[in-house]
Amino acid sequence: MQLVCLGTTGFHPNARRQTASFVIPEVGVVLDAGTGLFRLADYLATDGVDIFLSHAHLDHVSGLTYLVETFGVEAHDRVTIHARSEVLDAVRNHLFAPAIFPVPPGYQFAELGKSCVLPANNEGKTGTLTTFPLTHPGGSTGMRLDWPGHSLAYVTDTTASDEADYIDTIRGADLLVHEANFPASYDQMAELTGHSCLDKVVAVAQAAEVGRLVITHVDPLLTKEEDFDLTAFRKQLASITIAEDLDVQEF
Ligand SMILES: [Zn+2]
Ligand SMILES: [Zn+2]
Repeated sequence: MQLVCLGTTGFHPNARRQTASFVIPEVGVVLDAGTGLFRLADYLATDGVDIFLSHAHLDHVSGLTYLVETFGVEAHDRVTIHARSEVLDAVRNHLFAPAIFPVPPGYQFAELGKSCVLPANNEGKTGTLTTFPLTHPGGSTGMRLDWPGHSLAYVTDTTASDEADYIDTIRGADLLVHEANFPASYDQMAELTGHSCLDKVVAVAQAAEVGRLVITHVDPLLTKEEDFDLTAFRKQLASITIAEDLDVQEF
């Protein structure tokens, strides 16, 4: 299966990256709806989409307003937005408040609990999405997605630690997409902002024995290759990359 990175930064876009959004085209599953979501139309392979939101911070939801371009305003049966109830309320009452966005979109909103069934993939097999809570101002939701023979974990926004409770839930995933807003050793900033630094995320990936680690939600102000030097970490974890917009990740 394939995960397309539509947006791989946080907070605000820069010349290289849009904010958080990913799509698995063959099943129409979208993870987060940051500014990268404007690219969805180019990758749409299904009639409708299921959009799963980690939380309601703007860098993860602002792209929801772009969907009218792709689906029109009467898209009741084509777009379902899944999230915790307080996240859905924030999107409905604030992002889609008439003073902010004058076109009320007719999407479906579905409260996301501990797990849900995911659409069948190209092999005809349905999947399962399992959620887990993350430590972040206002809360955030991590997700593990499993189809037979294919597994992916998406963890953003949170402060990574090798003692994090979610390690057991993501254990053995083929692909871990984890935020590292900061390079290694920015622990104080990470704690303060509810984000992760690179060395702690590598420790999480090692502890969880995932197949591959892809770093996302990188600080939009850090645009040089050397800002996130992976050389030292490749000794700890063979497969680790920094996601770029439009990367396609197999899992
Ligand atoms: Zn964020
Ligand atoms: Zn956030």
